[in-house]
Amino acid sequence: MTRRPVRIVTVGDELLEGRTVDTNSGRIQRALAGREAPVLGVSVVPDEAAAIATALDATAAGDLVFLTGGLGSTPDDLTREAVAAWAGVDLEQDAELASRLERRWRARGINLKPSFLKQSDVPAGLEPVDNPQGSAPGLVGDLRDRTLVVLPGVPGEMAALLPLVLERLDARGVLPPAAESCLWRTAQVAEVTLVEACASVRDRWPGLRWSWWLTEWGADVRVAASPAAAAGDLAAAAAEVDRILDGIVFARERRTLPEAVLELLIARGRTVSTAESCTAGLVAGRLTDPAGSSAAFRGAVVAYADEVKTARLGVPAELIAAHGAVSREVVLAMAAGARERFGTDHALALSGISGPGGGTDAKPVGTTWIALDGPGGAHARRYRFPADRSHNRRLAVAAALDALRRVLEAGDDVSPWHQVDSWRGDR
Ligand code: AMP
Ligand code: MG
Repeated sequence: MTRRPVRIVTVGDELLEGRTVDTNSGRIQRALAGREAPVLGVSVVPDEAAAIATALDATAAGDLVFLTGGLGSTPDDLTREAVAAWAGVDLEQDAELASRLERRWRARGINLKPSFLKQSDVPAGLEPVDNPQGSAPGLVGDLRDRTLVVLPGVPGEMAALLPLVLERLDARGVLPPAAESCLWRTAQVAEVTLVEACASVRDRWPGLRWSWWLTEWGADVRVAASPAAAAGDLAAAAAEVDRILDGIVFARERRTLPEAVLELLIARGRTVSTAESCTAGLVAGRLTDPAGSSAAFRGAVVAYADEVKTARLGVPAELIAAHGAVSREVVLAMAAGARERFGTDHALALSGISGPGGGTDAKPVGTTWIALDGPGGAHARRYRFPADRSHNRRLAVAAALDALRRVLEAGDDVSPWHQVDSWRGDR
């Protein structure tokens, strides 16, 4: 099977007016990772037949073309009609789809309006794929030497249809598998640090394909086999990267940092709580993103005001007066307070200055103390995050979760802090 170039066309006036951010194309791109199907372009076009035709004209014979949006029942939705017109084929009503639509609306106590029925129209040559979450089916098939996939714009419906569509494409043998690759996900490490760490491996195996990118947690690196590399190069280079990045990798596959932490907590039979000032519950929020978090996460105190740190976490007011709320002493007392009150094995505490105001010469914006209290003792570290308020808060969440991950992975007597942390405040 040869590589299948992919082009994505997202349709919707709202996407061009900045009311809706196009998340569908990113989701399609991620779903295609692991296939030899390079995305060559994404275009965003208004709900106009001529614009849709122009975008389709810009695709090439042999392309796999994804279109999203404009499959609704309102008059402004005309992707179906535009595709049929561009391909020079008729729109044909699919009897089974029409009766399913009718049943669907009847079940909701609504009489079917004629306009709803346009969702059962299918351009000849395409076949419908049932939408598990809505009324507009996906459409898949070959027209004008391209393979077309037409999906609804509603992100949840598009996401539900994507795996079903990929199954259809696999059944037709449209998508070859991707070259073998390895992934390392890290937190607390700047992208440039990660690039430098891999430099010697890159020099040694130059035929491999390398890429780095920023994530919500830190930075990822991926190495893929390529025709320019010898068999065995990937495995040899991966072993070397494993050695260099030892301790700072939270996942070797597409897993989030909270998922990795939760999995470790459950595997060790450990529980955790948080005491949060500057992040105001964001760490707790992320820890509870994965399903099953109740097995390990017990609770959080959002202690934004000093009096709350004292009343709810038992931080002595004199300690705050003597050292300030953003200090080693206070963040350690917050962690100890949470651990004791929630009765957890571990407790994370954060107190910092996210900005833009509140910084001083001694404690500039970005200064954040993070503490981790646990069976092996209590640790605290000062960070100096370099960004704006929302990014500083995200970096703090990642640093806190990663500290817990390190202890869970390496053992209670190991320090949660790592020397390559890019934002540590003690250099
Ligand atoms: P449509 O299928 O065109 O009726 O789209 C329905 C709704 O889905 C739109 O009003 C948008 O809110 C949303 N939507 C459409 N296209 C996209 C897209 N590319 N990314 C994210 N949301 C979208
Ligand atoms: Mg629309």
